[in-house]
Amino acid sequence: MINKYIEYKIHLKEYIKYTLESREFIKRLNGKLEENLCPICGINDYKDVFKTLAYEFVKCNNCELVYPKKLFKQEVFDEFYKEDEGQNKIWKSEYETLMLKKFKKELSEQSYVKIIKKYSLKKNKYLDIGCGFGESLYHLKHYFKSVEGIELNKYTSKMGSFLFNTKIYNKTLAKAKLKKGTYDCISLLNVIEHLYDLDIFYEINKLLKKGGIVYIECPFMDSLSMELFREKHNAVDNFEHINMFNIKSFEKLAKKYGFEVVNTTTDETLDIQLNDILMANSKNFIHRFNDIPFINPLNVFLYLLSNTVCSKTKLLSKYLGGSYIQVVLRKK
Ligand SMILES: [Zn+2]
Repeated sequence: MINKYIEYKIHLKEYIKYTLESREFIKRLNGKLEENLCPICGINDYKDVFKTLAYEFVKCNNCELVYPKKLFKQEVFDEFYKEDEGQNKIWKSEYETLMLKKFKKELSEQSYVKIIKKYSLKKNKYLDIGCGFGESLYHLKHYFKSVEGIELNKYTSKMGSFLFNTKIYNKTLAKAKLKKGTYDCISLLNVIEHLYDLDIFYEINKLLKKGGIVYIECPFMDSLSMELFREKHNAVDNFEHINMFNIKSFEKLAKKYGFEVVNTTTDETLDIQLNDILMANSKNFIHRFNDIPFINPLNVFLYLLSNTVCSKTKLLSKYLGGSYIQVVLRKK
């Protein structure tokens, strides 16, 4: 357990470095924003929610999706995801961590594996879109006859296929030309919040068999930590997360693209540190950036408590308080 906390602190350090670089990127892009409609409803009917360094976020009155009123052009994102050096540094260190964990046999199944196993009626073909190194493929190949991934980042797709010995296409979904009506389950893990165009769900629908499922995991707009930190929350304090969902917005998304919602739970991540609570009202507060040495031992305690108690009792999931929502949509 203490090991897990140390790992978490290392991850935080990397995260801070990355966020600082991303903030510089936002400053360089200043002034290139364009009008943006609700990506689910295609209309402009909203109330203001909050402002971050990159965007003015609004909430759609029809579907409750929280999205930027004005947005950078798609090319800006394409460029960033392909070339960004800061991101590649993070991927390199993540690769080393994954390699070590695999070697020590410490890659434990995450909660999504259980949910996918429960809701996927058949287990022939599984596809993960935006699979990174393909850790999900590694876990799910024990349960599905065939597993494949799609990943636009060259480095992660190449190293991931090597590390986990799986098929990862370094192409867009359209260019991969996958066989329609053949997949039992398609997942998007921490991907949907980045998507510029949600019409990818038309393609996903076509790829699935009838009764096939989509599993989606992403930051949850109605989580306890979002309630507390709002515009300072790391889930929105960046320029890459442009779709913030709650349950209603998933229901509207499902209806539009021919699915029904069959599961909405949250994971057991609280994402609230004592440091953050104590500093939340200060002018320069940034979520996850705060370090108060005296408070640190208490943080270890809080972290361990929330990780053991919450994961045993499913407390956060039961009351939809966790920071990430886990949604299953079934093709009608
Ligand atoms: Zn909407």
